[in-house]
Amino acid sequence: MREDQVGFRLWAASHPELEAVITADDQRFTYGELFAEVNRVSHGLRERCGLVEGDTVACVMANSVGMVALYLAAMQSGLYLVTVNYHLTAPEIAYILEDCDARVVVCSDRVEETVATAADPLGLPVFVDGRAAAARSLSELTDRMATTDPEDTPAGSLMMYTSGTTGRPKGVKRPLSGLDADTGALAYRWLFKEFGMTREAFGSWLVSSPMYHSASITPAMGALHAGGTLVLMDGWTPEGFLRRVEQHRITGSSMVPTHFFRLLQLPEAVRECHDMSSLQYVLHGAAPCPREIKQRILDWFGPVVYEYYGSTEVGTTIARPHEWLAHPGTVGRPASISTLRILDTRGNEVPTGETGIIYMRQGDDRMEYHKDPRKTDGSRRDGLTTVWDVGHVDEDGFLYITGRVSELILVGGVNVYPAEIENALIGHEWVADVGVTGTPDQEYGEVPVAHIALTDDAPDEATAVETLRSYLSERLAKPKLPKAYFVHETLPRDPNGKLYKTRLAGAEDVSGA
Ligand code: ATP
Repeated sequence: MREDQVGFRLWAASHPELEAVITADDQRFTYGELFAEVNRVSHGLRERCGLVEGDTVACVMANSVGMVALYLAAMQSGLYLVTVNYHLTAPEIAYILEDCDARVVVCSDRVEETVATAADPLGLPVFVDGRAAAARSLSELTDRMATTDPEDTPAGSLMMYTSGTTGRPKGVKRPLSGLDADTGALAYRWLFKEFGMTREAFGSWLVSSPMYHSASITPAMGALHAGGTLVLMDGWTPEGFLRRVEQHRITGSSMVPTHFFRLLQLPEAVRECHDMSSLQYVLHGAAPCPREIKQRILDWFGPVVYEYYGSTEVGTTIARPHEWLAHPGTVGRPASISTLRILDTRGNEVPTGETGIIYMRQGDDRMEYHKDPRKTDGSRRDGLTTVWDVGHVDEDGFLYITGRVSELILVGGVNVYPAEIENALIGHEWVADVGVTGTPDQEYGEVPVAHIALTDDAPDEATAVETLRSYLSERLAKPKLPKAYFVHETLPRDPNGKLYKTRLAGAEDVSGA
């Protein structure tokens, strides 16, 4: 097959016996079986729920063959699919269901109660995957539906909500427009062209993070587009990851920095007894990755670790392994279809090496914030979009992220970005995790404070904090030194490693400052 002759439907027609999905409990589904289920869901959504092109279906599902089928059904039925984080509470889910104008909700059985609490007052039909045939079960939707292709298959699109690390999640919508609306096709072309990824590298693709996030679902659907097999994980543990890679000779996977941290915390003897040699592509992004952590992962996995920087809204830059090694800390250069500019607050381009606001454009993509044209307009300048990340570009065009505008701490007029302090602290052997925030201060207006989790090897909290204070004072200028230290058991991160800074409270300052 040629590069342009790819796509889930083509593989299902030409190689129905190929394995498409291996679930977390090792059930196997071929392309032929998945295709039949996708069609049943498509017919069910149209005939039983009356959905038409442009309608929205919400999905609150764990990584499962049901979620894969629902995604593909939405994409061939001209629907918007909204994937909702299944860790959210009922009011948080209700907010998204109402905001996105969902007409139908499909959820996993484990979150049935929460989803019902959110959806019932809105009068939304809920179908539960994994529930024995009965009221509300997914089979109510698919039972006796045809397994054949629907006559017309208009392209659907994902409407994703941002992670909500800086406030309420925001719905990001792309127009329903032809092939590029299909995330799988887009991801495949992106990985194939930009990363030089071969079809074989998609062969055994480990889906280790929850698919409700674009960083996980996008490459996974690219793999199905390439005729690969999706090997699902449902819940991430370092041992589970290593076992899965070895057992299924995994060729590629997407990961987040939290996974790297947790893998590196395993005893060396455990790490060494697993064979990672099948890995050809490990993609990572979604959150900042400290340099030393990435270096250690590269040392372990070899030159197969590719970084990208992007957001639900816009993307992307790419750092191939050799590029990152030559430019440590970079998130890469813009992909060939992307444009990058660093602007000051008045919209002027800043000189190379100087820090400014990151603006990007991906092809002619016209993303918009759902129901918020003012926010859409406010994030645009000259056809480029910003999500208010801050950074600079070096002479070779490589981008470095310094932080986010919303996290900027103004210490007596000096701009301080938490990421720099966090990177310095994570370099200390006793720091397991860290997040830096700003707090009001009479003298300076605002000062940084550090929230840390200590490793098991660390001494008592007071001694550890005293040591960290002098460690930082040798590395950072005075305005960047945290005024207080708060020690937590663990920091509140989502499964993609994003830190909920707004939730960092409730610990005592142990620094005695
Ligand atoms: P919200 O906008 O609701 O606060 P969010 O910005 O975390 O949530 P996402 O779209 O999921 O929502 O994440 C995009 C953000 O993740 C980027 O704006 C950037 O801050 C961060 N990010 C993504 N990739 C990288 C990377 N390689 N290195 C550093 N940060 C990254």
